Amino acid sequence: MQKILNYINGELIAPQSDKWLDNYNPATGKVYSLIPDSDSADVEAAYTAAKAAFPEWSTLSKDKRSAYLLKIAALIEQHLDRLALAESMDNGKPLKLAKTVDIPRAASNFHFYGTAILHYASHAHSMEDTAINYTLRQPVGVAGCISPWNLPLYLFSWKVAPALAAGCTVVAKPSEVTPMTAYLLSEICIEAGLPKGVFNIVHGLGGKVGSAIVSHKDIPLISFTGGTATGKHIAGIAAPMFKKLSLELGGKNPNIIFADCDYEKMLATTLQSSFANQGQICLCGSRIFIERPLYEKFKTDFVSRVKALKVGAPQEEGTKVGAVVSQPHQEKILSYIELAKQEGGTVLTGGNKVILEGDYAGGYYIDPTVIEGLDFNCRTNQEEIFGPVVTLTPFDTEEEVLKMANSTTYGLASIVWTEHLTRAHRMANQIHAGIVWINCWLLRDLRTPFGGVKASGVGREGGFEALDFFTEPKNVCVKLK
Ligand code: NDP
Repeated sequence: MQKILNYINGELIAPQSDKWLDNYNPATGKVYSLIPDSDSADVEAAYTAAKAAFPEWSTLSKDKRSAYLLKIAALIEQHLDRLALAESMDNGKPLKLAKTVDIPRAASNFHFYGTAILHYASHAHSMEDTAINYTLRQPVGVAGCISPWNLPLYLFSWKVAPALAAGCTVVAKPSEVTPMTAYLLSEICIEAGLPKGVFNIVHGLGGKVGSAIVSHKDIPLISFTGGTATGKHIAGIAAPMFKKLSLELGGKNPNIIFADCDYEKMLATTLQSSFANQGQICLCGSRIFIERPLYEKFKTDFVSRVKALKVGAPQEEGTKVGAVVSQPHQEKILSYIELAKQEGGTVLTGGNKVILEGDYAGGYYIDPTVIEGLDFNCRTNQEEIFGPVVTLTPFDTEEEVLKMANSTTYGLASIVWTEHLTRAHRMANQIHAGIVWINCWLLRDLRTPFGGVKASGVGREGGFEALDFFTEPKNVCVKLK
């Protein structure tokens, strides 16, 4: 059986303990590779390599760092088919999605930061003829990067690329649930000739490898994407150590539909924003609010479109909804559907496990599920489910829908559908979220700030904000006379 290896000091190596974990294919429920069950000794080796590589990497010219990143981007594009298949097998997502979104986006992340660093400038503040201040932006040091399983290579590269571009060296941990494309990325980095120790990947469990990175006394910066509970735990360890922290956490995003929207565009996009990647995107709009005059029409049309979505093997042509990522996650989602029923919800479509035939009989499939009749304050509408489950709620006024939309502890993304110009801006101004999409969803310009408010996180990724995060500003004040 294939063994995934750690990438430390430029080499692919087994964990020091020689212990391994099973890696499941969620489409079949079968183990198909082994992952290093690494521990703090492997993290220490990765840190030592990263520390040794830091002086040279951090002082390498921006042009040269950029060239490495652009080479990695080109190699990701060259290996698109292989990476997309690996992502689909590891995560359960439709192959088409991996091919058109996940992997191209991972390449764009390296391409974007490989070029952004060339345009990154710092400020000067003149005190007329008394003095001049200028800001140096210096790479922080060895960066710890920890990423989740839902968009494995996409989110892993979203952290690693700006860290490397900024001149940090990296110790990174992908999710143990989906380690394969990070492993293939390490092969790509070797092919790209990335200097030894600049980028290190330690595979294994969050409680062992993740914890060792977060609590390492000489890793001064942690960039984390994952669940809110894990983020809180990490902040509890890292904050008293005065580490720089970027936390991209959970969401429970509202999708607000006004009766004056462009109906067909809204319907097609809402299908995506509800069920893309089996609803396992932190930006999915799982609470759908519909202005009352449109409610019944929307409900009928939406449910009929959802029923037509093909749940199937991820690599099969035409599959729209693949497997959810793991058996525990499947159970968690199903338990929320039960909760919704107990809370008085009516399941309009879906609500059940799907058992496919043949090799796929043991896979983790769930029918896309639409529920109505719930109070906006109930647990189903307040807690993150992170699966193919949405709720429908009617509303009458802007004030009412804003109250419901803003009622959760989360504040990551939001979607508003209206053709009314001033209402669109009014809503955007008043929604508690880091991102507001008006008449679209998942449209991303990599220069824009990305992140959430409240329990959805601290700090922003994207654009120069990420380069700010991975560098420390130092003010130099020069007296002129
Ligand atoms: P988790 O919080 O469970 O895990 C995220 C990463 O943290 C994994 O690599 C995990 O390792 C690791 N980890 C777990 N425990 C610790 C620990 N004690 N110390 C350090 N690292 C640890 O999230 P999921 O992987 O389940 O991802 C889903 C969540 O991510 C959802 O809540 C989703 O909303 C959120 N998310 C947020 C995004 C955003 O941009 N705001 C984007 C995408 C997802 P292991 O896999 O071994 O447990």
